[in-house]
Amino acid sequence: MKVACEVLRSVSSEGLGEDELCRVVAEAGQVKALADAVTVRAASRLEALRAGSAREALVAGTKLSGRAAKRVTEAARQVEEMPNVGRLMDEGKLTLESVFALGSAARQCGAAVVDGSDELLYQAITRDAGSFLGVARKFAQRHDPSAGGDLLQGQRNSRKADLFVGSDGMGVLKGEMDPVSFGLLEQAVDERRDYLWRKDGGRDGTPDEVRNNGQRTMDAVFELCTGRDALTHEPLPADDGPRGSRRLPPGRIIAVTAGVVDGTDPEGSCEIIGVGPVPPSVLDRMSPDDRLVGAIFGGNGQPLWLGRMERLANLPQYVAVALRDRGCVLCRAPMHRCRIHHIDEHCADEGPTDIENLAALCNRCHLWLHRTRRRVVYEVDTYGVIAWSTAPRRSAAGARRDPDAVESAARLNGHADSSQAGVLAGGKTGAGVGPPGRGPPTAGSR
Ligand SMILES: [Zn+2]
Repeated sequence: MKVACEVLRSVSSEGLGEDELCRVVAEAGQVKALADAVTVRAASRLEALRAGSAREALVAGTKLSGRAAKRVTEAARQVEEMPNVGRLMDEGKLTLESVFALGSAARQCGAAVVDGSDELLYQAITRDAGSFLGVARKFAQRHDPSAGGDLLQGQRNSRKADLFVGSDGMGVLKGEMDPVSFGLLEQAVDERRDYLWRKDGGRDGTPDEVRNNGQRTMDAVFELCTGRDALTHEPLPADDGPRGSRRLPPGRIIAVTAGVVDGTDPEGSCEIIGVGPVPPSVLDRMSPDDRLVGAIFGGNGQPLWLGRMERLANLPQYVAVALRDRGCVLCRAPMHRCRIHHIDEHCADEGPTDIENLAALCNRCHLWLHRTRRRVVYEVDTYGVIAWSTAPRRSAAGARRDPDAVESAARLNGHADSSQAGVLAGGKTGAGVGPPGRGPPTAGSR
């Protein structure tokens, strides 16, 4: 340990370029994962010696908050029941956050189920912690022996809100609700807050001098509830900004596997785009505005086919990209904060705008790409999982002659062809319909 500390102290990031700095970050992440694994193992031994000692040691030795220490201790106990998870953790392949996500899935559906799922563990290794949390939640939901399809109803019944004046004289608004309703509420508040940010000066001004982000969020809620300006308390003009969702089409887009609809696979996946995985029972209460989308994904993680296109005539590309990406491909911001962008903008006016050349990006990441002159690139592994990253943008003149670009384009086409052929020849619906494990990253945590 002392040697490791010495080595880390000697690392300097001075004078390094972007690629080298990225490598430093990745390698430091490796070290951190291994250090976390050692911590978790030691905490587990401590607990075995005396209950409560791990938490004390973590707070005293690593200055973790009591709450965080409790979390690590709980994870340590769970890892003992999940040998495969423990092994991957010891190899430095799992972040602590992913171990937490596996732990909470284990609480819901049992340690043996989680530890025995190769698919889930593969996702834990390959995804970032944020998107994996969504995968783990969905897994737990689908394997929860008690809740089943009634989970959402239970969550709905548990909704509650409190409005009261706290002991310090501040008004407090506190509420809990099911994730489907919350997704819609959050979307409306997000939209309104973005609008207020622009109203406060936006990118060219100094919006934080008007109010900070937390204040803006509270003002967005206030204005949505009262129809009055949060700063002046004057009634808002009728045309004043978004009161709800603008970017998503009306209604909700619900992506389900075909088996859920025809009853052959009631365990299949069901997800509301922009909200996240939900139990299939949500289909029993669809509103007329909701859009039900079946989709078949090819081996390259791209949607090959979308069902009920006639209801989506002006939206198929949006829906296809939303289904595949589930949010910003770089930072996992939810879909309603994203717009669809061309992956290679220099080629935007040439050739068809097909979904292979489109990606969901939030505003922040899109701006960052422009500022840093980078572009989005992706690779598809043999499981059809798309891994997104960025690379320096090619110059417009060099684009054609860049041998790497030609090669990677050829590779992508190859994937598409073979998977399509597979679908047709085998008569099967590709690498699983819709989201769960394969293909597109799933919307991250909220
Ligand atoms: Zn982003």
